Amino acid sequence: MSRVLVVNTGSSSIKYQLFEMDPQKVLASGLVERIGEAGSKLTHRPGDADPLVVEERMADHSDGFDRLFKAFEATGGPITDLAGIGHRVVHGGDRLTAPTLVDDAAIQAIADQAPLAPLHNPPNLLGIRIAMASFPETPQVAVFDTAFHQTMPPRAYRYALPADLAGELRIRRYGFHGTSHAYVSRKAAEHLGRPAGELNLVTLHLGNGASAAAVAGGRCIDTSMGLTPLEGLVMGTRSGDLDPAVVFYLHREAGLSVDDIDDLLNKRSGMLGLAGANDMREVARLVADGDEAATEALDVYCYRIRKYVGAYTAALGRLDALVFTAGIGENNDAVRAGVCEGLEGLGVALNAKRNKGRSKGPRTISADDSPVAVLVVPTNEELEIAEQTLAVVGG
Ligand code: ADP
Repeated sequence: MSRVLVVNTGSSSIKYQLFEMDPQKVLASGLVERIGEAGSKLTHRPGDADPLVVEERMADHSDGFDRLFKAFEATGGPITDLAGIGHRVVHGGDRLTAPTLVDDAAIQAIADQAPLAPLHNPPNLLGIRIAMASFPETPQVAVFDTAFHQTMPPRAYRYALPADLAGELRIRRYGFHGTSHAYVSRKAAEHLGRPAGELNLVTLHLGNGASAAAVAGGRCIDTSMGLTPLEGLVMGTRSGDLDPAVVFYLHREAGLSVDDIDDLLNKRSGMLGLAGANDMREVARLVADGDEAATEALDVYCYRIRKYVGAYTAALGRLDALVFTAGIGENNDAVRAGVCEGLEGLGVALNAKRNKGRSKGPRTISADDSPVAVLVVPTNEELEIAEQTLAVVGG
């Protein structure tokens, strides 16, 4: 029993990876997309072999899981030897603060958080139920995106709202991408050869969604996402921070409904709203062509991050390392340079040549005499979920 299947069930997709944990290896991975829509598709990657692509209608998630189990059978045999199945669950609220063995009480607790993440927790739970039915003897573990941030003190997680109302509705900052921030914090400490307990870090997860975290001695003390993933940094399609009065103004002046504004701020803002492109590679192409809107958008993007780095340096009292991760953080040297530019006063000195280099593993991109180490640390949320799952099931 040395294998772990990691499952991330979304509203119309299932992402999965099967790990051999000892010695560690990815045996297979894949993605089921557009479930219940036209053009459903399964892409299954069995280890180093060619991917298997199945394009046929998948009416619901049960269909999707059936198809992916069949893909295992067709390529390397059925999934066996499972120590556990690890499920990514977006919202654990303030009750589910650690990876949790799934039982009836845990299922109820995950369902109870659904109002806080209505688009995510219900499909996450559906994935858990289907996996339980398919593998009744295998322990299932839920790993929460919010869990790592539950060590934030009240001064970081509370909004200045009437206490009774906020308490009743559980309105507070929760933070997301916790699995990634936890993973890269640990890897950063390993790379620096120092105990995590001694280090103060700012971790920047810059993907389609983006968030910053202040991590003191391995524990999160602040993060930029809030009640929902909308708060904080400028993202691919999300605005990040804005004056809440913008919402009332849009309603009163433009006649937009709550749902319209929700859609506008989550799906049509951010880099898409500013530059007309949500993918940073496309933004980079526009900037290279001299597009003014894209150039300014990139400046807004980097400046917002820089402000958070400054704020979190103050919150931490001392910064040892700044860590870039996720699609943009790992691959976009212009963004990394734009973030670090002007932070010399805080002890951040980038080495331009190292910043442009590439490597598969963690690397240092700061100058040798930079008081703050600047690192690129590739994230691996699936592996982190697999390791946490194994820890819960006692492997
Ligand atoms: P998600 O949040 O969906 O997991 P990712 O972490 O993959 O997203 O990040 C997506 C962003 O990363 C996109 O803006 C994309 O332009 C950028 N990105 C991903 N891979 C690369 C790459 N190889 N080079 C440059 N940018 C990349």
